Amino acid sequence: MTRILILGGTTQARQLAERLAGRADLDVTLSLAGRTLAPMRLPVPVRSGGFGGAAGLAQYLAEHEIDRLIDATHPFAADISRAARLAGDQTQVPRLLLLRQAWRRHPLDRWIEVDSIEAAAQIVGRVGRRAFLTVGAGEIDAFAPATGVRFIVRMIDRPRNPLPLRFHEVVLGGGPFALVEERQLLQMKAIDVLVCKASGGAATEAKLVAARELSLPVIMVRRPPVERGLSVDTVEGAIDWLAGLDERPEARRTL
Ligand code: NAP
Repeated sequence: MTRILILGGTTQARQLAERLAGRADLDVTLSLAGRTLAPMRLPVPVRSGGFGGAAGLAQYLAEHEIDRLIDATHPFAADISRAARLAGDQTQVPRLLLLRQAWRRHPLDRWIEVDSIEAAAQIVGRVGRRAFLTVGAGEIDAFAPATGVRFIVRMIDRPRNPLPLRFHEVVLGGGPFALVEERQLLQMKAIDVLVCKASGGAATEAKLVAARELSLPVIMVRRPPVERGLSVDTVEGAIDWLAGLDERPEARRTL
């Protein structure tokens, strides 16, 4: 029985877990940060909450005799991916990065690419007056100084505390999103600028297509650098990686 730990919190992690669940040769656990109130239903055992940095993750890998580590976290979740690299190196547990395919710019796209959320917040008021904000819940505070903008903020969970934005409304929703819905939302809310992170992947791409169709500018926060290591960008690729590895796990378990 090969023990696999998937670091998740993404659609791809769920899809991988769904594909691996029920395989008699694998013992799969999926790890979530524990931020979402009602996480998606998953077909494999789930553990939730931080490990306590790279050292904590290394300890988890050793204690649970994990044979393979698959980092299927979000492209902007840089801390956990760094911890996965360090813990994988330390314990010699083979690690795979399951990346999301980056979005490709279409000639008709009006993207303004920036390097950080803060940079997006600085320019949003110069680009539009009604912004559709689809960044993480923890990144909304950065937009507080943009007082001349009305924000339509999409969130997975209703915020527990009032958002620090002068003019805003919250729309609740989690991906995948259909083009027809995204187009309707942009039009209904009279959005004149979209703010998002270059997360990539199909589940949240429809808003970009809708923005293109409506010729709206998009302030796009670039991805942080990818951790070094073996990577694939499809669930199929991760399954192939598991099939191809035939190292003996016993040699790799000492810390
Ligand atoms: P992060 O900044 O890289 O991680 C912060 C801390 O959260 C990590 O140091 C780790 O705590 C804990 N953590 C993160 N992912 C974890 C996981 N899968 N299992 C156990 N602990 C985890 O990550 P983040 O940007 O806050 O994202 C948190 C989670 O949400 C990730 O699972 C990510 O895949 C998902 N997510 C993120 C975004 C985004 O835009 N950042 C979007 C959608 C989903 P310790 O140091 O204590 O181990």
